[in-house]
Amino acid sequence: MSDVKRLRVAILGCTGSIGAQALDVCRQHIDKLEVVAVSVHRNTKGLVRAAREFGVRSACVADPAHANDPILEELPASCELTSGSSALAALCERGDVDCVLNAVVGAAGLSASIAALKAGKRLALANKESLVVGGDLIMPLAAPDQLLPVDSEHGAIFQCLVGDRRSPLHAIWLTCSGGPFFGKSRSYLEHVTADRALRHPTWSMGRKISIDSATLMNKGLERIEAMHLFGLPLDDIIVLIQREAKIHSMVEFCDGSVIAQLGTSDMRIPIQYAFSYPERWDTPCERVDFRTIGSLSFGAPDTAAFTCLALAGRAGKEGGTLPCVLNAANEVAVDAYLSGACGFNDIGRIVERALDAHEREDVESLEQLSEVDAWARARSRDIIASLAQA
Ligand code: NDP
Ligand code: MG
Repeated sequence: MSDVKRLRVAILGCTGSIGAQALDVCRQHIDKLEVVAVSVHRNTKGLVRAAREFGVRSACVADPAHANDPILEELPASCELTSGSSALAALCERGDVDCVLNAVVGAAGLSASIAALKAGKRLALANKESLVVGGDLIMPLAAPDQLLPVDSEHGAIFQCLVGDRRSPLHAIWLTCSGGPFFGKSRSYLEHVTADRALRHPTWSMGRKISIDSATLMNKGLERIEAMHLFGLPLDDIIVLIQREAKIHSMVEFCDGSVIAQLGTSDMRIPIQYAFSYPERWDTPCERVDFRTIGSLSFGAPDTAAFTCLALAGRAGKEGGTLPCVLNAANEVAVDAYLSGACGFNDIGRIVERALDAHEREDVESLEQLSEVDAWARARSRDIIASLAQA
């Protein structure tokens, strides 16, 4: 096996749903990919397991409170251990890393995305919150083909455009499975438990994105993500319910031609493509037999029941620091919902009240965004406390 040609990857968030699937892609294409660095937040057991299996050179524990967990002594002797959020950014800058897969959850992934791009690395981006919060800072840093989207819809759009990036786009059709509560009314949603919300019909994902998929906030975040990645006005990014989740998104050119990307609902495909681009490698998963699908259905989302989608539309259109507030309030509200501190529809109420309380500014720096993020989190906690008293 020749090391010279292998793509040397750093996997941020290696213990998560995307991180684990990325490690599987690396396992299946060991002749093409070398895992040189991994990170976790606090799951040091998972970190050690990945570091030992892949013989990584560097491992990072983002939460310093877990930097001395005894299990870390089991890291390979040659593996360097670092901790803290600045260490996460430093991991991205290592000379022996060609490509950073950012699979951290939440705005915590933003500084690593910026560090990876500034260091000239390929950024395989699953962490959509990076773009939602900091798209105005990130996109000017990305050279052509430096930022490869991993989110399945954005990976699909990217693939639809590979053959034709110059023709004017009329619209992006951003597909959405509808989530576990498709077709339910707002009054039904008032009482749905986190247990039910965590059961997605199509994808098995981390807890935060599972709740985002149930509220459709995920699709709202993805519209903003697509706006930054593909440079289209938000109004031209149309959410399309596609229950079978076989069409991962479509682009419509000015002449009315529509190009779609289809395939198995398996995140290993977009993860692998972000590594292999512009090549294609053998699939890591089952293929679709289109003879067995029957029909494909299409519909519009219900924004009256799923208010988070409309709120994300508002934040995306106003832009500036509003998406940062939207994201931070949503992260706090989702945590509160998961711990039983608020109801399902309260997630939208909390986000709306946080947005109402914020005065929009143009995005200027990472420091400004972290201040706005901290303000929005504190405000959202106050809103949750006031909801509990009402
Ligand atoms: P998970 O919750 O499953 O995993 C998150 C990973 O990030 C874990 O390794 C976790 O470490 C680490 N992490 C958590 N918080 C921090 C932090 N503050 N600092 C550094 N690392 C942290 O999430 P997913 O894999 O589901 O999602 C990851 C990202 O990918 C999200 O942005 C999501 O929106 C996006 N995405 C996910 C899809 C999916 O199918 N899961 C599909 C498309 C996009 P630890 O284990 O120690 O907590
Ligand atoms: Mg997606």
